[in-house]
Amino acid sequence: MKRLLFIIEVSLLTLLVISTLVPEVTYARPGGGHSYNSTKKKSSPSSTNTYSTNNASSEKESSYWDDVEVDKNRDVSGVDLPDWIGYAIFGLIVLVLVWVGINSVIEKIREKGLVSVPSKEDINENMVNMAANLRRIKSVDPNFSGTLFFDFVSSVFTKFYALHEKKEFKNLSPYLTTEEIIKHKKRKTKKEYEKIVIGNMNIKTVYPSTTLISVDIEANYTVLQRGKTTRYDVVERWSFKRNPNLLSPVPEKMRELACPQCGASLGFTDTGTCESCGTLVKNGEMQWYVSSRNKLHQQVFETSGLAHYEKEKGTRLSTIYHPDNENQLKQFADNHNINTDAWLAKFDNKVVHEYFTKIYDAWSVNKLDKVRHLLSDRLFDSYMFWIAAYKAEGLTNKLDELKIKKVKLAKIELDKFYESVTVRVFASCKDYVMDNRGKVIGGSDRKNRKFSEYWTFIRRTGVKTDAYDYGTCPNCGATADKMGQSGTCEYCNTKISNGDFSWVLAVVTQDEVYKG
Ligand SMILES: [Zn+2]
Ligand SMILES: [Zn+2]
Repeated sequence: MKRLLFIIEVSLLTLLVISTLVPEVTYARPGGGHSYNSTKKKSSPSSTNTYSTNNASSEKESSYWDDVEVDKNRDVSGVDLPDWIGYAIFGLIVLVLVWVGINSVIEKIREKGLVSVPSKEDINENMVNMAANLRRIKSVDPNFSGTLFFDFVSSVFTKFYALHEKKEFKNLSPYLTTEEIIKHKKRKTKKEYEKIVIGNMNIKTVYPSTTLISVDIEANYTVLQRGKTTRYDVVERWSFKRNPNLLSPVPEKMRELACPQCGASLGFTDTGTCESCGTLVKNGEMQWYVSSRNKLHQQVFETSGLAHYEKEKGTRLSTIYHPDNENQLKQFADNHNINTDAWLAKFDNKVVHEYFTKIYDAWSVNKLDKVRHLLSDRLFDSYMFWIAAYKAEGLTNKLDELKIKKVKLAKIELDKFYESVTVRVFASCKDYVMDNRGKVIGGSDRKNRKFSEYWTFIRRTGVKTDAYDYGTCPNCGATADKMGQSGTCEYCNTKISNGDFSWVLAVVTQDEVYKG
């Protein structure tokens, strides 16, 4: 028995020594490995929306080692086991070590980008079907724009909660079923919703024959009820439907939920008649409406998880490439009369690298005013929510020595109103959470953490500007120091954050949840 214990100890010691040589992957960066977590949550710029089911694996590991300690100290009076059991265990451990070693070599090769050419398997069948279905919608409605559709969904969702049990709720009548409006009128929960922030939206299904698109919306909001305030993280699935032969309204009308006929902003009767022009906007006859809503997940948001780090989960996953990339890139090059390779290199260097560093540098000091014009409204709101949460706890999430390793083009999507480019950025940094006395309370300020994220940039179709002096307004050239909350330049009184003058970063998705 003693010999057996000795062999186990030697083996574990070897394992411990070797494991320190294997590249570390355990801590989590705010933009990174965390996600929703069933108990604790750590969130960051981008992680407002990811989900995780397994809890901190490092905690499990440490308790495992503790158990071994305890066993060693216990008075083992005992049964002598045959030697071969010891050798078998030793052999097993050697096998495990060899396996770990091979895997780390494979990992190294992957990181060097040697295995990064998209294969057929990388292009998921689901995505191919989804892309084909969206093409069918676009073939009937050339005004359809994914970017604007998400803006519309986000407006309906936000107003739905903001106007909850308020008399203005009736203004949503063109976009909700009559049953929903009636049910809502009778509701007396005395709930108020505040600070509604959408983290992420994913198209779940597209049915072109009935023109139905369902979207998973990851969001958080504060509920006030009977003097009590609770903040929730939620995932809701909303389905949008409309007449198949419609032409989508122009961007201004899509975003603002204006009357599809006269453009007046939100003023409708219970039954959907515009108070300005008298047009009856029946469900789905002129615009999308919500045909069903389901709450898939809800949990109370707790700031106690802000300094909690988890293992990065998606860094090793293969990049998800959109099946239409080649065609769309060619189309893009034709539209702009450019050389694809030269443009990609420029976009990588002058846009992705610049935005990535500038935005995360701003994040690291809890101040986004210098990059307001580089962010879409929704992303800005979401980042501001997290920054407020960090500040309220006296914390800052630092991302030091940020380095981009490589950038891969994952998706390019062109429509009548917008161009959208999604890249996967592989990077590393020292990612940690610091309290206001400068003490590191989560993550590590010494070890590099590797991660990857999908960044989606949008720009209005027809705009040529790729890169400009990012310290200035891309419209008037004045210093970009007065962009306010709404991304509107005070010098030229023009909204910049819609991508009307250059690229804005619209969405950041964690690698483990990116679906294409
Ligand atoms: Zn009207
Ligand atoms: Zn300006």
